[in-house]
Amino acid sequence: MSTLEVSVVTPEGPILEDTYDMVVCKADTGEIGILPKHIPLVSPLQISIARLKKGNDTAEIAISGGFMEVQPDKVTILAQSAETADHIDVLRAREAKERAEKRLQDKSDTVDRIRAEHALKRAINRLEIKS
Ligand code: ATP
Repeated sequence: MSTLEVSVVTPEGPILEDTYDMVVCKADTGEIGILPKHIPLVSPLQISIARLKKGNDTAEIAISGGFMEVQPDKVTILAQSAETADHIDVLRAREAKERAEKRLQDKSDTVDRIRAEHALKRAINRLEIKS
């Protein structure tokens, strides 16, 4: 059976490089499943969880947005930040979530609401993997 070579890369370096049977990602248009021999594509990714399947195992990676490049035998995820479950600090994510929620409750004009909304999504995404 053919497999996909998967790389997850951030500005801090590669997070993961391995072969998998299937990759499920949340593109801007919705969830897509990539199997070997998929047609080539490039797509933005939402702040979301990428699921990498191998046999009965699934590795989950918190992706803070970015891009996915698909070639028939290779998937590259380029993300501003990405963490596998064992690298997620739950306390830090909870604190980030609380900070973002407080900012969003503040109705003053000085709050960058889009930035706070993104921070909230990143924190919820990280917590979802750990739940
Ligand atoms: P924080 O406010 O806690 O920094 P953030 O969402 O603003 O959260 P990012 O800008 O997405 O953080 O990431 C900055 C760096 O910190 C990245 O290397 C990312 O992998 C890491 N990081 C952020 N939050 C966590 C977390 N809860 N657990 C592990 N690593 C994290």
